[in-house]
Amino acid sequence: MNIKPILIVEDEPEIAGLLRDYLQAEGFSTAWLDRGDDVSGWLKTHTPALMLLDHTLPGMMGLEVCRAVRRHSNLPIIMVSARGDEIDRLLGLEQGADDYVCKPFSPREVVARVKTVLRRTGGQLATISPATGSRLQFDDAAWRALLGGCDLKLTAIEYQLLRLLATAPERLFTRSQLIGEMYHDGRVVTDRTIDSHIRKIRKKLENVLPGFDPIQSMYGVGYRFANRAMH
Ligand code: CA
Repeated sequence: MNIKPILIVEDEPEIAGLLRDYLQAEGFSTAWLDRGDDVSGWLKTHTPALMLLDHTLPGMMGLEVCRAVRRHSNLPIIMVSARGDEIDRLLGLEQGADDYVCKPFSPREVVARVKTVLRRTGGQLATISPATGSRLQFDDAAWRALLGGCDLKLTAIEYQLLRLLATAPERLFTRSQLIGEMYHDGRVVTDRTIDSHIRKIRKKLENVLPGFDPIQSMYGVGYRFANRAMH
């Protein structure tokens, strides 16, 4: 799904395994190195999407690795360090890290940070921000829509439909316009099909964020995505 892996540099196998499991559950692929001095060589033949870099590592400390990689690469880096390590947030960021996570961490939080950094650095997630603070994201590589980082688990048609509406907030689409935009294979689709997809999308949005209902229906006309409904 996502071609470029997230590189986990971590000498504790349990922590590396935990990160791997959570990242893979979100559709990322992963790679793992357990020594700091292996990173530069590995990067000569691989292109990860992002590196999760532990600080206390055999071979070379994370901060050194970060500095070395930064000399020749814009690879997004999230530094990970245990409390008590001789590194503070500022130092990590000064060495070119994009973000910093402190151990013990919640893997869920790390995954959220990974997505944020990828988004910021132009990674795999395409973000739609129709209004300030929008939390709806579209991952075109994986056909996945996320609301506040949560996968809405849309079908391909639902994905296209929501993306189309959300990309043009406040624009009113008639059902026949939606059908025209979505179905290019000459299939016969009725208005009722669209209504049924919209119903399912609404339910999935509601499941992830109760009370969140950005899709307005104009009776007898069609649908539009309301800006003001964005959280
Ligand atoms: Ca370590």
